[in-house]
Amino acid sequence: MRSFFTRPRAATLLVLSATALAGAQTRITPPANNYTPAQDVELGRKAAADARQQLPIMRDDAVSSYIDEIGTRLARAIPEDLRHAEFHYTFEPVNVREINAFALPGGPMFVNRGMLEAAHTEGEVAGVMAHEMSHVALRHGTAQAAKATKYEIGQVAGAVLGSIIGGGWGQVISQGTQFGLGAAFLRFSREYEKQADLEGAQIMARAGYDPRDMANMFRTIEKQGGAGGPQWLSDHPNPGNRVEYITQEAQALRVTNPVGDSRGFQQIQAHLRQLPKAPTTEEATRNAGRRTDTPTGTSGRTTRTPSGRVETPASSYRTYDEGNLFRVSVPDNWRELQGGTSNVTFAPENAYGQANGQNVFTHGVEFGVGRNETHDLQTATNELLDSLAQGNPNLSRPTRFDRVNVGDRRGLRTVLSNQSEATGKPETIQVVTTQLRDGNIFYAIAVAPRDEFTTYRSVFDRIAGSLQFSDR
Ligand SMILES: [Zn+2]
Repeated sequence: MRSFFTRPRAATLLVLSATALAGAQTRITPPANNYTPAQDVELGRKAAADARQQLPIMRDDAVSSYIDEIGTRLARAIPEDLRHAEFHYTFEPVNVREINAFALPGGPMFVNRGMLEAAHTEGEVAGVMAHEMSHVALRHGTAQAAKATKYEIGQVAGAVLGSIIGGGWGQVISQGTQFGLGAAFLRFSREYEKQADLEGAQIMARAGYDPRDMANMFRTIEKQGGAGGPQWLSDHPNPGNRVEYITQEAQALRVTNPVGDSRGFQQIQAHLRQLPKAPTTEEATRNAGRRTDTPTGTSGRTTRTPSGRVETPASSYRTYDEGNLFRVSVPDNWRELQGGTSNVTFAPENAYGQANGQNVFTHGVEFGVGRNETHDLQTATNELLDSLAQGNPNLSRPTRFDRVNVGDRRGLRTVLSNQSEATGKPETIQVVTTQLRDGNIFYAIAVAPRDEFTTYRSVFDRIAGSLQFSDR
């Protein structure tokens, strides 16, 4: 089983302070935030350093200066009340094919070559960049972290120390899914999305771009599908009626100093066409051989493939107290592995490690929290299994769900089959889910080789039966 990596986002309820009235632009109020702008800068700086290690940054003056020009024009159009003296907006092109871009707290922005290639106009490029920039200016990344449960805040603190981000991100990139860093900074609630759309539209208009180009780019992204589109959409979910409200906002805005001439855009696209085709993110990170490790457990780091004899689970159990969210009992001889920013795995010696650059485990249980906006356990569980399947292509689809009690809460259980990444042999996966008070989903993913599952099932049941929640 590839270690799962979710990107929890705190459930946030944010009401836009006003709706767009005809002739008046929407007033956007940044959400409450416990971090200081200086902390935004510090977090973003560390994350950007990781990004530069993980991703193939394009060293191409033409491309760099082109996006820098657009970015600088947009940054100058950020309204006074959203400017932070500490912030520094920078723009770097990434040589990968997916239509994507992301910006980190404090200002570092990364724009995929695929985005430049897919756009039809410079305004569309500016649209995505203005949207990303608005997340930064409104400080959504840290606001989201500030609203996170205590459990998640602890993980953000871990990220501040630089101990977790690198591993998780590399792992997720190599899985060809979204950036794991999104745990705190990249994946946004629909409320924040709407804010970024509207603020981005206003910035565009002041910078001389037609805000409707942002809506056009979102349409392009949605149409694209495949490997490119959903990646961006997954971090920036459509709040609904996206095109409509952007268009409505655009009607309330006057485009000052229109950019007009887009010769630069055509030149850049022609230039890109002459370069060798951009790799996918997955290919780029694989070819670069820049895998990062690792589950860091109490024993430190490991990079070896799980192999060797796996001890049977001890009959004595010890209690693991996560602190804020849950307690669980696990066999004494299982080790604690902090795998990502949102999960913890318990596995016996020789049952965890890396295979094909991925964190994997062959026996054990992983607990974690995933964001859920649906407030419906079945839907949330289906979404969780979809994400799990992304990282584990051989995972079977669920055929049935059993209703179970998990820590005195309603839960679901399903049993799936998979092919072990480490051994190539069949394995059985038991997934148990329940909901936390804040609506997020809590999961336990138990893994054992298929021919040992009968033995392990009672262990998994005992572990699941010991779960206690302390969230309120
Ligand atoms: Zn967004």
